[in-house]
Amino acid sequence: GLQGQVAVVTGSTSGIGQGLAQALAGQGVSVVLNGFGDPAKIEADRAAMESSAAGGARVLYHGADMSKPAEIADLIAFAHREFGRLDILINNAGLQHVAPVDEFPDEKWDLLIAVILSSTFHATKHAVPIMKAQGRGRIINLASAHGLVASPFKSAYVAAKHGVVGFTKSTALELARSGVTVNAICPGYVKTPLVEMQIGDQAKARGIPVERVVEDVILAAQPNKAFVEYEHLAGLLFYLVSDMGASTTGTALPVDGGWTAA
Ligand code: NAD
Repeated sequence: GLQGQVAVVTGSTSGIGQGLAQALAGQGVSVVLNGFGDPAKIEADRAAMESSAAGGARVLYHGADMSKPAEIADLIAFAHREFGRLDILINNAGLQHVAPVDEFPDEKWDLLIAVILSSTFHATKHAVPIMKAQGRGRIINLASAHGLVASPFKSAYVAAKHGVVGFTKSTALELARSGVTVNAICPGYVKTPLVEMQIGDQAKARGIPVERVVEDVILAAQPNKAFVEYEHLAGLLFYLVSDMGASTTGTALPVDGGWTAA
């Protein structure tokens, strides 16, 4: 089982990262949370996750800004120092910016590439020596359906997520004989706080009911017309981090209701 293992989940004060951290803690994995937000809420969420964790697993928090390489190095060192090992790294921190390419702000391009793509490199770079020394490790990169196919007006996001998929393949090859696997999970739309906010705004802006926004606008590309649930992502995560996942490396696996089959 996963009992006694240690995970770092970047961008886990909200949404998918928080859901996956919770799922791991529920299996007895000690977790280092990371991400932005109100300090009081972050601490309350951390404490709640720790008290619902299985088998005395601990839940800590590190506030590294994932656009800053030195802070990312400190995040991985913190986990190793506190727990003496690192079994699972989930590179999940991310953000979106939507604009036509000829109007795309330079600083937004740089920020998305830094937080989505470069942070995955920096965290992996520092986690790999620890995992190699253990002879086992699991690196999971939260890419996106947009790591496999594109949409307009999301040039930085799509480029960064395709980059994450390429980085996943390259590092998986390097580590293939080390006991460390590297895989990307590519979700379709997940109803995170960020997406939920868009639904209300779009309904108001377009003067149409919420259900129509969900089906016609948000889930336009997703054939099953249903959001991906955290449990569906956790199911794949549990497989990848288990011993049954030992032969699965260098993959980019969609969990997208059929989106990338179309
Ligand atoms: P979210 O906004 O709910 O969570 C993002 C997390 O990243 C938060 O904890 C935030 O604080 C953190 N973060 C952002 N910038 C950071 C920085 N500079 N340093 C540290 N932490 C930072 O978003 P989400 O929907 O849960 O997305 C999580 C990941 O899943 C992202 O990589 C996103 O691209 C990907 N994803 C989301 C969806 C979706 O439909 N929601 C679909 C596919 C992929």
